Amino acid sequence: MKKEKVIIIGAGPCGLSTAIELKNIGIDPLIIEKGSVVDAIYNYPTHQMFFSSSDRLEIGQIPFVSERQKPIRNEALNYYRTVASRIGLRINTFEEVQHVQKQSDYFQVQSIDDKENENVYQADYVVMATGYYGQPNYMGIKGEHLPHVSHYFKEAHPFFNKKIVIIGGKNSAVDATLELEKAGAEVTVLYRGSDYSASVKPWILPLFDSLMRNEKATIHFNAIPKEITKSHVVYEKNGEEHSVEADYVFAMTGYQPDQPFLRESGIQLDQSACPMYDPDTMETNVENLYIAGVVAAGYNNNKIFIENGRFHGGLIAENIRQKIMQ
Ligand code: FAD
Ligand code: NAP
Repeated sequence: MKKEKVIIIGAGPCGLSTAIELKNIGIDPLIIEKGSVVDAIYNYPTHQMFFSSSDRLEIGQIPFVSERQKPIRNEALNYYRTVASRIGLRINTFEEVQHVQKQSDYFQVQSIDDKENENVYQADYVVMATGYYGQPNYMGIKGEHLPHVSHYFKEAHPFFNKKIVIIGGKNSAVDATLELEKAGAEVTVLYRGSDYSASVKPWILPLFDSLMRNEKATIHFNAIPKEITKSHVVYEKNGEEHSVEADYVFAMTGYQPDQPFLRESGIQLDQSACPMYDPDTMETNVENLYIAGVVAAGYNNNKIFIENGRFHGGLIAENIRQKIMQ
């Protein structure tokens, strides 16, 4: 069994930031990451521009210089790779943690890597920085798993001249609509809200609204999706059933933490899928088991971002430092 002081699960921006904070107090943690470094950002839409300015995405006080005020995905990939390399973080990529089990005074962490090797580690402290992007919010409607339906949007080009239905009304839905319309797709948005969401970033809302007002795209408010068939999306609006043609469907319904994984580790979750934790230390109800980043926000994707989640690592490192000094 390999022994570690601290294991961090997840090499997203908040996991990396936690590792840097721990290095600053003399601990060299092991990060175990099931994909690549900052895998969620790697899986963002290819041409994603962040809503944050680059200084608000910085970790470890290493400057993030970008050409524009708000960086694009590729610049962020480069930045976080560079930080990991400069600080010399220990990261096992393409290794998935399957179980975290509390023993008497340590954790047993079991993982499997891309060569199908099974690994077992012993760690005094574990940090779950596992994000939410791997688990879309499924609507639970018939047809949701058909091959022309996706909960992720990557690029618009293939959808030129195609009829697209987008489900949802926040930033991913709005961004995808703007990009798809530009690429010549015929877009219909089905949104369950009665008006534009207040969460939509103020600089993209006028562009979205302009598409609707100029009939370059269509939005149906109060539209509740009921079923997806090979050719249509059926929805209910004001008690009546409607349907709209769809060659492809993007259900941009948000994401949620890996609830079974957290629960199996002993972490209690409330009805909003929020882990039970102390906000001053990020320690969960399981002693010496911490959370960092957006995993702490449960179903609410609009509460914790890189902007604030990057500071969780400092709280965790300080708490571990105090425990070690006792
Ligand atoms: P993640 O980056 O999701 O990292 C979690 C990591 O854990 C992943 O790499 C995952 O592969 C890994 N993992 C999960 N389970 C396991 C396991 N069992 N074993 C091993 N590894 C595991 N926030 C901002 O502040 N500004 C923005 O401009 C911004 N733009 C966004 C744009 C989009 C399209 C999206 C979806 C989100 C955006 N966010 C933004 C929100 C959020 O801050 C990011 O999603 C960010 O990636 C969260 O960081 P994190 O480290 O908490 O989690
Ligand atoms: P989100 O903010 O959680 O929005 C999900 C949308 O889907 C909401 O409009 C929600 O409706 C709707 N929805 C959820 N469940 C549904 C259901 N069962 N049936 C019908 N509709 C449903 O998710 P997101 O837009 O993917 O954003 C995720 C995160 O990424 C956020 O932090 C966001 O800020 C970030 N993001 C950033 C950028 C950027 O930087 N430019 C771009 C995209 C996303 P309600 O409105 O009623 O809740």
